Amino acid sequence: MTKKIENPLTKFYDGKFEKQVQEAPALQQKMTPIPDCGEESYHGSGKLTGRKALITGGDSGIGRAAAIAYAREGADVAINYLPFEEDDAQQVKQLIEAEGRKAVLLPGDLKEEDFTRKLIHDAAKELDGLDILVLNAGMQQAVESIKDLSTQQIVDTYTTNIISMYWAVQEALDYLPKGASIITTTSIQSAEPSAHLLDYAATKGAITSFSKGLSAQLAASGIRVNTVAPGPIWTALQICGGQPQEKIPEFGQNELLQRAGQPAELAAVYVFLASDEASYVTGQVYAITGGSFFA
Ligand code: NAD
Ligand code: MG
Repeated sequence: MTKKIENPLTKFYDGKFEKQVQEAPALQQKMTPIPDCGEESYHGSGKLTGRKALITGGDSGIGRAAAIAYAREGADVAINYLPFEEDDAQQVKQLIEAEGRKAVLLPGDLKEEDFTRKLIHDAAKELDGLDILVLNAGMQQAVESIKDLSTQQIVDTYTTNIISMYWAVQEALDYLPKGASIITTTSIQSAEPSAHLLDYAATKGAITSFSKGLSAQLAASGIRVNTVAPGPIWTALQICGGQPQEKIPEFGQNELLQRAGQPAELAAVYVFLASDEASYVTGQVYAITGGSFFA
């Protein structure tokens, strides 16, 4: 049988978006259109059979796409998210369990050091080990002028996006075996910061450097570390303050591929980086941007 060849310009929703706003953190099930996390389309082939993965921000968007794909590749999956996002998380739990894999829900705020450290131990205990750590949670609030950027927002963005990664990795090293994979989510904003995302973009620059440096520190332990740099992906982050509302209709339209990406389009890279097939890959940035070059 021949597999149908698909046009990347039209494979996913390629229209403009309706303006829509929710309070952060938004629920993706209330978005129009609902982001496509591969619920209908991702097919596994045993690439992660028996692995144990923790994914932060696994309730929605890119983290959810990774959670679905990991379960379909045979992994047991724990996800972390904020308590407000319970309804999205319950959907992910059902999707993981539908594959016959274990789903562990660990809600809580990564801005709290004690919680974040305990999260790692709880995940390893519930999963009976930890092989794959996906540090993907993030917050993004657009502010036009640096004069209006509050200290609270700067601290919250840094704590959520980058400082929590130090706490998580410090604890995870108690469990990660040789062959384990750490995957972070950076952004094209690391290389091309937008004027209205001064705090967010700077944390993404830090995540890129952190991931490269950590790969050097952990290579001799047989642990690989890589980061994924998405471009404009249609997720909850964008409609709860991540973009100014007037930018929502055109979101993604200026990329070479002329549309926003969907979380489903990132899943295969999170699977590859977690799998043994990436045995010679560490310290790298994987850009999935619709065309912008990450340099
Ligand atoms: P999303 O809103 O679906 O996922 C982000 C998740 O982060 C939330 O679901 C939430 O559970 C989690 N989170 C935020 N603050 C938290 C906190 N204090 N404690 C615990 N969890 C918290 O959006 P997404 O776009 O899938 O975001 C995933 C990652 O992708 C983020 O790191 C984001 O910066 C990055 N990213 C997204 C885009 C994009 O265009 N959507 C582009 C580049 C990078
Ligand atoms: Mg969410």
